[in-house]
Parts: sequence; C-alpha cells; structure tokens
Amino acid sequence: MKERTMHAVPRNLTSLCPTIVRGEGIYLYDLDGKRYLDGSSGSSLVCNIGHGVEEVALVMTPQARNVAYNPTHCSVSQAFLDLAEKVANISPRRLDKIFGVSSGSEATETAMKFARQYQVARGLSSKYEVISRWQSYHGNTIGGLSVSGHTYRRRKHAPVLNRFAHIPPAYCYRCYFDLTYPSCSLKCARVLENAIRQEGPENVSAFIAEPVVGAALGAVPAPDGYFQIIREICDKYDVLFIADEVMSGVGRTGESFSINHWGVEPDMIATGKGLGAGYIPLGAVIMSSDMTGLMVEKKISFVGGHTHSGHLLSCRVGLAVLEYMEAHRLIENARQQGAYLLEGLRSLLDLKMVGDVRGKGLMAGVEFVRDKKTKEPFSTELNVAGQVMDEAMERGLIIFPGHGSVDGVMGDHILIGPPLTIERTQVEELVSMLKTSIEAVERKLSL
Ligand code: PLP
Repeated sequence: MKERTMHAVPRNLTSLCPTIVRGEGIYLYDLDGKRYLDGSSGSSLVCNIGHGVEEVALVMTPQARNVAYNPTHCSVSQAFLDLAEKVANISPRRLDKIFGVSSGSEATETAMKFARQYQVARGLSSKYEVISRWQSYHGNTIGGLSVSGHTYRRRKHAPVLNRFAHIPPAYCYRCYFDLTYPSCSLKCARVLENAIRQEGPENVSAFIAEPVVGAALGAVPAPDGYFQIIREICDKYDVLFIADEVMSGVGRTGESFSINHWGVEPDMIATGKGLGAGYIPLGAVIMSSDMTGLMVEKKISFVGGHTHSGHLLSCRVGLAVLEYMEAHRLIENARQQGAYLLEGLRSLLDLKMVGDVRGKGLMAGVEFVRDKKTKEPFSTELNVAGQVMDEAMERGLIIFPGHGSVDGVMGDHILIGPPLTIERTQVEELVSMLKTSIEAVERKLSL
C-alpha cells in the first residue's frame, strides 16, 4: 500500500511511498508485507550491516537506561573514548584523532572548520578557501553545499553559497578534456595546481574530494595515480587534503576507507553513514595529532561543535556496529561480493540503454544513455533513473537514482550498494531484478 502522509513531510514530497515497518538482513517489509531487497542500504548506502541486527539492538536499551548523554562542553564519555580508539585503529596510520558528529554534512563542514582553525593556529590566517570538484556531493548544509558540485542541489540555494573554486571530476567515461586514460597524464588531477595558483595558494586552506564519487556521479572511482598527483600538489602548496568518505568509508568499498585503494594518506577524513549503519545518526572527522596537538599547544579550542558532537549513546551504537563488522569480516565480504556484483552488472552492458557500469567493492553505479556510441543522454524530462527506480520498486528492489552525470544537469545513473552482509545468491537476485526493471523501461521508451 502506498501512503500519502498526513502530517509528516517526507523527503519525497511529490509521490506516494510505501510505509516500511520491518527489516531483516538485506530485506525491508512494508505495511502489506511486501518484501524489498535493500539494494541501496537505506537511502544511499547507510545500512552497512543490514537490518534488525540483535547485537546492536541489545546495547541500546541498557546504555540509554544507564546514561545516554553527557555534557560534552565539560566532560567526555567512555563510549566516545572507545569509539575513537576503534575508528583510529581502522584509519590511515597518521590519522588518530576523532571528532564526533551526527551526519555526513556535519562531518565535511566540521573538517573544513578544523582545517581553517589549524591554518590560523599555524599563523596562516589568510588560508580560508576550500577547493573541490564539479559533480561531487559533500552535504546539504550551506557549507557542504558550497563545496559540492551537485548542480541540481546547489542551484536553488546558489545566492547564499560561498563562491569557492571547483575543478572537473576524474571521470574517464566522460572526460572533461576529451582525453583517454592513461595517455591523458591525468590532466584532471593536474588542473588542481592551476586552481590553487588562480585563487592564490596563500588563500587556499584545503581541497576536498570523494575518492569514489557517490550520489553526484554514481560510484565513480578515481583512476589509478590520480590521488598521488593530488597529494603532491597539496603538499607543494601547503594545502590540506580532505577525503570525503561519508559514503565510501567504513568498509563499503572493501577497504576500511576507500582512499586506501590508492595508498595515499589524506590529512583528514570525513565520514558518516555506515558508522552508525542506520541504527543511529553518527559521523566523524578523522585527523592527525599534528593538527590537534598544535591547537592544544596554542590553547586554541575548536570552535564549531554541535549539541550532539560525540553523542554518548550514538558512540556506543557505533562501537557495536564496528564490532559486528569485525566479527563477521564484512570488509572482506564487501570486497568479494563487490567483485561479483560488478561482474553481474557488467553483464547488463548488453542492454540497449546501459552505457557504463563502474564501482569499487559494494559501491556500484550504472549510467543510462540514449545512444551507446555517442553517449548521448536522455532528456531530463524523461527522468529515466526515476523510471528505473519505480520499476525496481514494483519488483521489490530498492536502488538510489541520480541525475547530472554528464554535466551536472543532463545524465541518468543509479547507485547500487546493498548491505555488506549480502550473500552470493542475493547478489544474483539483485542483478536479475535490476535487469528486468531496466528492460521494462526500455520497452516503455520503445528502444
Ligand atoms: N558527503 C558524501 C560523499 C555523501 O554521499 C553525503 C550524503 O549522501 C554527504 C556528504 C552528506 O551526508 P548527510 O546526508 O548524512 O548529511
């Protein structure tokens, strides 16, 4: 049964949605008992350990009964200390300091604020700007949206956004420079140097990028060598590199953080989603003790905390999520099932409107085109990604649609990222349902 809500304002204002009442493993159930395979782990790759995990549920009530919140302006909690230690253990070696937040947008924005305050602490107070990339997504707050390159989401708020520089994405299927990897010499990375010089290195505090671009491009990993060049340029101009791992972090791509695939150490990591795995809103900024150490030495307290920064109950739940992932070797499973998922999705390249399939681990994307040779996209009015989502929902599969893969406006893609607990036969079930959904849209479009 699809519901029109009475008083609640849902994210999807314009269409009727089912009411979800139960979850178990990789499946969700609505009021009528209809089953859905959660192919996007909730809304865009959140529920990494699947639904209804008893081990997580069991820590919630006792912790809430004991104490759920501590006055974070003048105390810390054991849960926060334990979570910080656990996160530090899965982070790149140099990054061992954790600041707790409640969402991905808070994580990216807090990372930018830490970067700025660190630069000021170093005596480099002219450094304020954060350079980013087009076709990226770093959050829906004004700060997060200012560095995002998600045209659709930016446009309505454009007058109040900061006018920071954006460089083209690393997107080989539609290279901005019409070049081919690897003979391109990774021009898409090298242009960061131009941008820093144009803005003035003395003004640039940080560069932020998703190692695997999520919502804005549909799971596009950077080509090999890209982040090595980014690292070199950032070092040359004394600019901090923030890896936005809100979607790609916490095991999603088969590594604890996706930047590890390229052996590059960022200066900071922003993470969220999978950390609370949908059981509780939770995010984190991960940075080095060089940064916090200098601020402590100069007696500069971080200005930018929130009411729920390092929230006690959330941290306890986050810890239970990470323990569950470790006990069930979910990062390894993400690697194995991710490879199998990509293989299955690549078989869809035989369909008429599937132009490209990409991804890393259990973070995968499919891009739709009207003409495979020319890569001509569908007109935006057709909302092809939305049509594929609707057909998939009919068949009991949830996926996440996206637009703007061509130039921020044109282009349709979907994100696929089931819980990291998925099994081989369930991957086959997912691919099979997706195939029939795409075929149904192809029929509707008379392709
Ligand atoms: N950064 C990335 C890479 C994301 O994918 C998202 C959300 O999709 C965000 C930041 C914002 O996170 P949240 O929606 O939790 O604020």
